[in-house]
Amino acid sequence: MKVLKFGGTSVGSPERMKKLLDIINPNEKQIVVLSAVSGTTNSLVEIADCFMKGNKEKAMVATQDLKQKYEIFIHELFLKAEYLDKSKEVIDYHFNLISSFSKVVFSSVEEKIILAQGELISTHLYHLYLAEIGIQSVLLPALDFMKIDEDNEPIVDYITQKLVPLLQANKDCNLFITQGYICKNSSGEVDNLRRGGSDYTASLIGAGIRSQEIQIWTDIDGMHNNDPRIVKGTKPIAQLSFDEAAELAYFGAKILHPQSVFPAQKYKIPVRLLNTMQPDAKGTLITNDSERGSIKSIAAKDDITVIHIHSTRMLLAYGFLRKVFEVFERYKTSIDMITTSEVALSLTIDDTRYISEITRELSTYATVEIEKQQTIVCVVGDFNAEEHGAASKVLDALKHIPIRMISYGGSSYNVSLLIKTTDKVEALKSLHNRLFD
Ligand code: ADP
Ligand code: ASP
Ligand code: MG
Repeated sequence: MKVLKFGGTSVGSPERMKKLLDIINPNEKQIVVLSAVSGTTNSLVEIADCFMKGNKEKAMVATQDLKQKYEIFIHELFLKAEYLDKSKEVIDYHFNLISSFSKVVFSSVEEKIILAQGELISTHLYHLYLAEIGIQSVLLPALDFMKIDEDNEPIVDYITQKLVPLLQANKDCNLFITQGYICKNSSGEVDNLRRGGSDYTASLIGAGIRSQEIQIWTDIDGMHNNDPRIVKGTKPIAQLSFDEAAELAYFGAKILHPQSVFPAQKYKIPVRLLNTMQPDAKGTLITNDSERGSIKSIAAKDDITVIHIHSTRMLLAYGFLRKVFEVFERYKTSIDMITTSEVALSLTIDDTRYISEITRELSTYATVEIEKQQTIVCVVGDFNAEEHGAASKVLDALKHIPIRMISYGGSSYNVSLLIKTTDKVEALKSLHNRLFD
């Protein structure tokens, strides 16, 4: 069985929703994972934010605005009165639920329920659309099988345990429609896999059912060799290894959710990145194989904070790094880049929730300096030390830009550099010219 995920723009209009049948084959067994209609999750974030700040009036206006968009949407999607009525009920149900939060004490529990409505609506509408045109499908509630643990880690075994029986109970059916992004947490509340999380859902389902292939259908023809939003003339990459794709996703290539490669990688399930607007384009195939000898792609991750830890005594004496890392572990803050000298250590984080506590603890044995608004630029490809020359090209391309940190040699397929965010656009363009033109 294949898993096909369609992103926000791929279900972004009634016309686009109808066009999905150019790609989905109703005669083949498939699990179809849908995102919310594009723009919806942003609107839901705004609505929840207004409720959280106590601005109920603004929340209700935004809720009505969004509802109106869906009222227009369903009139274009459905032809038969019966299905239009059913879809109206769906819209009313979800928007009444959102509106009902004006009457309660609003917390992060309600916030996450609001954020889940986009995927619940899009999947229900698509399921009804298929029914209207006579195609049988089963609507699988992701909240019944997608779960995260206390550390917000999805539980693949739980997915297998819960999802396989649901599929078996519907043996006669080919198409299974389900929500991306949403899940339950360890307290049984509605939660989500973070923004862009529908890719992660597809990969987790693929892993959970050991699917034959995972297809991520989006609005571009695969992973490009640089950020197409910033650099002109970027090109799709035909083939990437799981490690390379994971690195690019983690370091800012928005086409893939940062964690989404890992479940597929663990079970060696090929992932294809494909373009809904150009279904025949080859896209990118992600497998265990890596093509040797070339630089593949560049990505950048913003909102990085660098922490410089300077100690006058025996910084690198044994036990010191453990002491430093334990602080970050205690505050569940992961570190992206590290560089060391005899007396100083610099590291970067992107989650700054506990930065004051971390700084306070580190300050008991070192001088700590913090710099914000940094960007990690990540170049992925064959950096095998034997194939010398690749890393020097990267440095040469950035010779006019101050580089704050460099990470090279941690793996043979990546070089990461820390620069000021204000230098990012120039860095990406200059790297592109030097490495690909
Ligand atoms: P979806 O809604 O289908 O999940 P996203 O907007 O999350 O789509 O991801 C697709 C977008 O990712 C593209 O439109 C493109 O602008 C952006 N993007 C950023 N970096 C890359 C890259 N290296 N390759 C391809 N797309 C990229
Ligand atoms: N709808 C969610 C978002 O906009 C999840 C996704 O699209 O992948 O972030
Ligand atoms: Mg996305």
